[in-house]
Amino acid sequence: MTTIEQDQTTTVATAERPLSALDRCDSCGAQAYVRATLSGSELLFCAHHANKHEAKLRPMAESWHDESHRLNA
Ligand SMILES: [Zn+2]
Repeated sequence: MTTIEQDQTTTVATAERPLSALDRCDSCGAQAYVRATLSGSELLFCAHHANKHEAKLRPMAESWHDESHRLNA
């Protein structure tokens, strides 16, 4: 059986939207500073959890929007 899936309609739209105080880490609920897009769905991480998951997730992510530098500004 051959199935060709054409499911590329929901892509990059939000990739460059800046993170705000309303964006919360999916792991702990702290303010998110990183947004990763994986298979079309968004994951939000605080700096701590972004750091923890980056090595594993970043190579698979379609986008990795990192604003953690704002913490050190
Ligand atoms: Zn967190």
